[in-house]
Amino acid sequence: MGDIFLSIRGRVVINVEALNMTESVGNYVKHRRVPVMIKENGGYGVYFVPSISGESIAHGFQDVLARIANSNKLPVCKLCDKGILLKSSNENIFKAAFGIDVPKDDYELEKTIIERCIVEDVGGFLYAHGERNVKRTSNFYVGYMIPVSEAIKNVVIEPQLQTRYALGTPFVSKEEKGQMIYYVELSSAPYVFSFDLDTKYIGKTTFVIDKPRSEVKNRKERIITTLNALQTFLLELMFGAKKSRFLPVVNWESIVIAISDDVWTVPSPFTLNYIEKAQNKKEKINYNTSLYIYDGTKGSFEETVINAIKDAKERVLK
Ligand SMILES: [Zn+2]
Repeated sequence: MGDIFLSIRGRVVINVEALNMTESVGNYVKHRRVPVMIKENGGYGVYFVPSISGESIAHGFQDVLARIANSNKLPVCKLCDKGILLKSSNENIFKAAFGIDVPKDDYELEKTIIERCIVEDVGGFLYAHGERNVKRTSNFYVGYMIPVSEAIKNVVIEPQLQTRYALGTPFVSKEEKGQMIYYVELSSAPYVFSFDLDTKYIGKTTFVIDKPRSEVKNRKERIITTLNALQTFLLELMFGAKKSRFLPVVNWESIVIAISDDVWTVPSPFTLNYIEKAQNKKEKINYNTSLYIYDGTKGSFEETVINAIKDAKERVLK
């Protein structure tokens, strides 16, 4: 079987979204904001813009992975299976997740967790209990979604008033005001999207370096399942909060997916010419790299994703 490096960059317009909220101040729920710098008047200007965190995207992906792995009879721990992604962060969590005692040896600890939970195998974990730290780096990488460069100066965040008053019913009197009105900040923006996946260490121990790597028996199935989860995650945009009442209006403008034999990333979609940059980069350097491109004119976003994942799976099975 072959290992692959898969890199995704895209631009997606998301209207009326409340996908990543931070704190609530009284009855006011705030959208996440980050500072972004752009060139301006011969220098740089800083703008505070709406964003969706990498943690939010990572949570969504791992949740899909848990579900798809479960239906394929691959191991998922009790907590990840319920979408509680505490991922072996201490002794009690480990015991609740796996129903066994924590192995004394660090190498055995990582091996046990990998064998028994694909979410922690693919998405990493950090066991920190007392003086003991055992860490596994995630095999996939995501970043903050921020508005594209051309939109930085024009995006806005707007609070929406929500009420649940029932005037005229006995439940609302002069003394009892019913439920407080509240505000939810909404935003609309063309966002950048980034996701990389390196299959090299999936199903293999990484933490203790002076022992030979231990490898699970079903590595191939695990990688194929991870790719299937990625396809569902992308096609259904399965991340973000508040979707029960703030289901956003989504339209993918473009996407580039690169499949390579070694680390090869698609340039940032922050600037409009990223597709051209990706093609130029591939001309100069590539590791058996194939590019799958949807530029908003021909083909479709879905077709591009499906073809890229198909190629990735074929390379893994080879
Ligand atoms: Zn788990």
